[in-house]
Amino acid sequence: MTNLPPQYNPKDVEETRYQWWESQGLFQADVDPKRTAYTIVIPPPNVTGILHMGHALNNTIQDILIRWKRMQGFNALWVPGTDHAGIATQNVVEKALAKEGKKRQDLGRDAFIQRVWQWKEQYGNTILYQLKRLGSSCDWRRTRFTMDEGLSEAVLEVFVRLYEQGLIYRGNYIINWCPRCQTALADEEAPRKETLGKLYHIKYPIDGAPGKFVEVATTRPETMLGDTAIAVHPKDKRYKSFIGKQATLPLVNRKLPIIADEAVDKAFGTGAVKVTPAHDPVDFQLGKKHKLEFLNVMTDDAHMTNVPKPYEGLDRYDCRSKLIVDLEQQGFLGPIDEHTYNVGHCYRCHTAIEPRLSPQWFVKMKPLAEPAIKAVKSGKLTFSPARWKKVYLNWTENIEDWCISRQIWWGHRLPVWYCDACLTKDGAKVERAGQADNVTGEAKPFAASGKQPGVIVSKTAPEKCPDCGSVTGLHQDEDVLDTWFSSWLWPFSTLGWPKQTKDLEYFYPTATLVTAQEIIFFWVARMVMAGYFCMKELPFRRVYIHGTVRDMTGKKMSKSLGNIIDPLDIIKEYGTDALRYTLITATAIGQDIFLSEERFAAGRNFANKLWNATRFVLSQTAGTAPGHLPPKSDLSIPDRWILSRLQYTIERVTKSTVGFLFNDAATALYDFLWHDFCDWYLEISKVQLAQKTEDRRQTSDILVHVLETSLRLLHPIMPFVTEELWQRLPKRAGAATIKSIMIAEWPKVSKKFMDEEAEAQFERFRQVVTAIRTTRAELNIPPDRRPPVCLVAKDAVVRAFFEAQGVLLRALAQVSNVSVTPQAAKQKDAASAVVDGIEVLLPLAGLIDTEKEAKRLQQRVAELTHYVARTESRLSDPQFIGKAPAEVVEQTRTQLAQAHDTLKKLNEYLSVLQSM
Ligand SMILES: [Zn+2]
Ligand SMILES: [Zn+2]
Repeated sequence: MTNLPPQYNPKDVEETRYQWWESQGLFQADVDPKRTAYTIVIPPPNVTGILHMGHALNNTIQDILIRWKRMQGFNALWVPGTDHAGIATQNVVEKALAKEGKKRQDLGRDAFIQRVWQWKEQYGNTILYQLKRLGSSCDWRRTRFTMDEGLSEAVLEVFVRLYEQGLIYRGNYIINWCPRCQTALADEEAPRKETLGKLYHIKYPIDGAPGKFVEVATTRPETMLGDTAIAVHPKDKRYKSFIGKQATLPLVNRKLPIIADEAVDKAFGTGAVKVTPAHDPVDFQLGKKHKLEFLNVMTDDAHMTNVPKPYEGLDRYDCRSKLIVDLEQQGFLGPIDEHTYNVGHCYRCHTAIEPRLSPQWFVKMKPLAEPAIKAVKSGKLTFSPARWKKVYLNWTENIEDWCISRQIWWGHRLPVWYCDACLTKDGAKVERAGQADNVTGEAKPFAASGKQPGVIVSKTAPEKCPDCGSVTGLHQDEDVLDTWFSSWLWPFSTLGWPKQTKDLEYFYPTATLVTAQEIIFFWVARMVMAGYFCMKELPFRRVYIHGTVRDMTGKKMSKSLGNIIDPLDIIKEYGTDALRYTLITATAIGQDIFLSEERFAAGRNFANKLWNATRFVLSQTAGTAPGHLPPKSDLSIPDRWILSRLQYTIERVTKSTVGFLFNDAATALYDFLWHDFCDWYLEISKVQLAQKTEDRRQTSDILVHVLETSLRLLHPIMPFVTEELWQRLPKRAGAATIKSIMIAEWPKVSKKFMDEEAEAQFERFRQVVTAIRTTRAELNIPPDRRPPVCLVAKDAVVRAFFEAQGVLLRALAQVSNVSVTPQAAKQKDAASAVVDGIEVLLPLAGLIDTEKEAKRLQQRVAELTHYVARTESRLSDPQFIGKAPAEVVEQTRTQLAQAHDTLKKLNEYLSVLQSM
């Protein structure tokens, strides 16, 4: 009767099922004005990416939303794609080249970029195949790449528009420089790490005051070679007399003015600071204010340059060591203290960044941030969990200009050309981005806004200079744009922008963005700004920020810790549905996720349970299409109960999904299917099916109805097993033409089957059965012994109910006879339990070896008494209460209460046994 194999084997199902979905066009969405669009754009994984648990979680959530909306009848589009990941990808290819003993410079720019494209063709889609293994129902026809033609066009377009509106400028600023990657980094790309280092005190002799010094403290002594002043607070009594005088830079003998500025912190270190305008952001501001010289003393790879001979060419740290020795020898070194401070580190290679003066391109962010702030303040754009609203606002309200030029080769090259003729007019040197120079005062040659003759910003290469007409000597800027300069356009560039496409009109703005917390600044906030700038409309209405995947001890999964669980291994071992189910149940809204491999067994067991339940249901239906459900009055209490539970489950799963409470939806389905449906209703149905023929048909229809509906509810979370089982179930006439559960209708609550009366009655029944089962277990009554049971209930309605359920009660509780009475004489030899006002009496005579059982019970009572005493003393120990986590204390209390109950029960049984 059933063609289902005895066990669910995901390997037999997943790949073929996925290909079938794809071949049927079920993932595709096209413009259809008759339907409402629901769009999600994938956070594009890096082309260098390999699927990890973070991706698995992120994409499972997106797939749940897309499948759910698709079933609700929306025209659901999930746009996939990848990010070119400038620095990351360049690093990967550079590493491969290094194995051949080559550097990128050996190949030259064009050949190197060719190499990266080759690498991308070969490996860049790995992650997309892996996303398919995860079941992601993306419209793969629409796969985009941040460097494909359309998206590159969008990047150039927005650069030119921003420039023309005065929102892009070039200037000399202190930026975060990675000497390893040899590029500028945005602040967000150079996260600060607490570092234990040293604070070196250096003595600067004062001119005209023999034997007198100003002592300064620094964590980077090598930067002293770029010092151009000493600064003190104007009200600092210790230094007042020195202001306006000069100090001598030790070892170099250069003269430094001693200046006064309120910005100097009197309380830090000695209260005097060295000023290195080209190598420190604070000093940069001081340098501009006091018109100091900007001396750049380091090369791109952090070796010393423009410095006296013994130090020229040294690595920054070697120079530091040598300086310390020399300073000490010549008596200029003060104390060296241990010191904890924050240093930015390159987010790609973790090298300590070097703040450095450098000509770079910037986006003015304040004007762009305004509508992005308003959107969140007005509630047009919402965050879940809501706490991220504050984080977002705090950043956008204090936003700094965005450094967008990078000194690497892989990426969108800046659409900027320089005209030699214009830029060398007054004997000036042509200065291009990335080349640091020594300048004085205000950064030159470009002001922080406005256009300059000889700088041409254009989407295509200019044929001649628009300022002087020169056709030669035009050079494109060597730099490329920050990777995020293409990903901030993602929600609309993927739909065709800057072309005004039908897709754009129909699918934009998107609905929900699902992302990780690390990229809220890099990406989320900037997308909102770009959405308003380019589209005059926000890019999405809801942002769901999920937690971080960690191991069971709370550590983030990482290669170096060796605690990674590979999602592809889990798929192999347990199946994709098990992976998805476990990830989702472990994810409370926005909270971090704690995973161990064992947790995935729960998902696999659940899939198997459903498989077996379906096998049973199929064996009872003989393939006939179910009829319509009969009116409530024709249904038994268990039928009414399971249909009512189903309605509540539909309601809860739908509400939870709306609120991103995916774990709640998954748990509700698990409880309903495993406990209500499998543990109880399937057992009851066996009894009902053994009855008359017309009841038989009714029961099998309800079995199919409940199972089929539940599979639809579960489909977004566990797409494969639900499709496989759904395909085998007989369908009602109207639904027979629907080819996949993917496009079957999302279940709706049928109010008429919500039935509190039946639920209350069934609950009482369930408790009575459970009480009898517990008593049987506690007293070791052999399974083949069927005692009679007597139920004592004062309420006539309750009695009538249990009289009517005699057959079921006998079958489920394994009892021989059920008698129901309003009152019973005290039965000495009966074990009793009271549930919900009903006394359940189980006569024990002749059932068990009373002496042996009494002994066993005495033993258990003794153990339990000991446990209770121990636990009570633990709970009265202030040490334990104070130190243990609250949930452990709470758990211990609950266990103690349970132990008290059991103890009471066991003593009752014991007294029954002893009186026999
Ligand atoms: Zn780096
Ligand atoms: Zn020119």
